[in-house]
Amino acid sequence: MAEILRAVKGMNDILPASVPRTEKLPDSALWQWFEVTVRKVLSRYGYQYALMPIVEPTALFVRGLGEVTDIVEKEMYSFVDSMNGDKLTLRPEATAGIVRAMIEHNALYNGPLRVWTMGPMFRHEKPQKGRYRQFHQLDVEALGFPGPDVDAEMILMIRSLWRELGLLEGRHVRLELNSLGQLEERKQHRDALVSYFERHAVQLDADSQRRLHSNPLRILDSKNPAMQALIEAAPKLMDFLGDASLAHFDGVRSALDAAGLEYRVNPRLVRGMDYYNLTVFEWVTDQLGSQGTVCGGGRYDGLIEQLGGKPAPAVGFGLGIERLLLLVQELALPVPAAAPVAYAVVPSPQQMPQILPALETLRAAGVSVQMHAGGGSMKSQFKKADTSGARYALVFGEAEVAQGMVAVKPLRDAAAPQVIRPIADAGAWARELLDA
Ligand code: ATP
Ligand code: MG
Repeated sequence: MAEILRAVKGMNDILPASVPRTEKLPDSALWQWFEVTVRKVLSRYGYQYALMPIVEPTALFVRGLGEVTDIVEKEMYSFVDSMNGDKLTLRPEATAGIVRAMIEHNALYNGPLRVWTMGPMFRHEKPQKGRYRQFHQLDVEALGFPGPDVDAEMILMIRSLWRELGLLEGRHVRLELNSLGQLEERKQHRDALVSYFERHAVQLDADSQRRLHSNPLRILDSKNPAMQALIEAAPKLMDFLGDASLAHFDGVRSALDAAGLEYRVNPRLVRGMDYYNLTVFEWVTDQLGSQGTVCGGGRYDGLIEQLGGKPAPAVGFGLGIERLLLLVQELALPVPAAAPVAYAVVPSPQQMPQILPALETLRAAGVSVQMHAGGGSMKSQFKKADTSGARYALVFGEAEVAQGMVAVKPLRDAAAPQVIRPIADAGAWARELLDA
């Protein structure tokens, strides 16, 4: 036998639940349910769908994300196009690509724009539960809006998504909020931070020493327990914010308060990318270990200009779909089943030519029918019908079919009687299957 080829490490297949898996991953039905729910919620808020390429020029991410970010320093899948020597990168996140596209097509010419996209992202990280090398994000951006109204609306839209996904009730995710102020305010804070950490240089771990002069804010993000006391006592950005930044933050907060959304102001919340300013937020859960951030975002008023566009403010977020669905799975939340309405039991495959048109009629009328194919005993077919989750078995027994009839047998309601229906007339009784 030929050697079996395997998927690239850290890149997963998303498969039907019936396929046995060793690794814990969301199944494809859960995935589709998420997609449908996202489309529904986002359209309620007037967000429009967009699709950008998965490959972009490397320079886009270097310029967009900042050279000393984790992503650009060590997580990007970059390569040279062997045909023409172009430097390309598999997108590690979606914001830079959306912004590139909007600048390229002058999309803000007619005013601000709410857009979203969904798809695979690539980061060369150590694969583990909730952290993969190909993972998927829902990415949502509001471009050209100065806020803070749209910041709050966006956060409330995420709450609405949690509600639809069944995550709100048990408070399975919570909101953390912060303001990063403006560049000048961050500079002053950064200076204060660097001199503070310099004074305590002996207590810094190797990672933090490296970051001290390149990206001292990231030190605050350190997960090293030995560093926590030092970090706790460091100068806080909030104390360096001016009136306008504070007013923006208050604007977001009072809108969230008015909408009854609870949150925690986390002055230590910084985001991985350089481009953020003012509002930043994360939705976190305690159920996924150290991969607890399911969604993160914020304002990035400088990015559009930085990438060559006419200056325009913007705010957005990325949501990790695998992480979110792992959480849904872990909590065993009730997810609408993807079961067919009916399962066609066909004891004599030679009768197929008579049966197939009836199944087509049912499907055209909106009834989902899973047809048993490949023969087998009545007993084994009924077993399959049962595990399919179908509400009815359509039993095309030899005797019935000879008389042009099919038995419609309820599978989930023991008290409901079986009825006999004419095969040729499937359009007339299709509704009976849907109304139940
Ligand atoms: P982390 O701190 O966990 O590395 P991040 O700050 O790098 O996250 P973002 O760039 O903000 O993550 O991406 C938004 C979301 O995408 C994250 O909150 C997370 O849910 C998801 N995500 C990020 N990296 C991965 C990954 N390697 N595998 C799976 N999901 C990921
Ligand atoms: Mg990361």
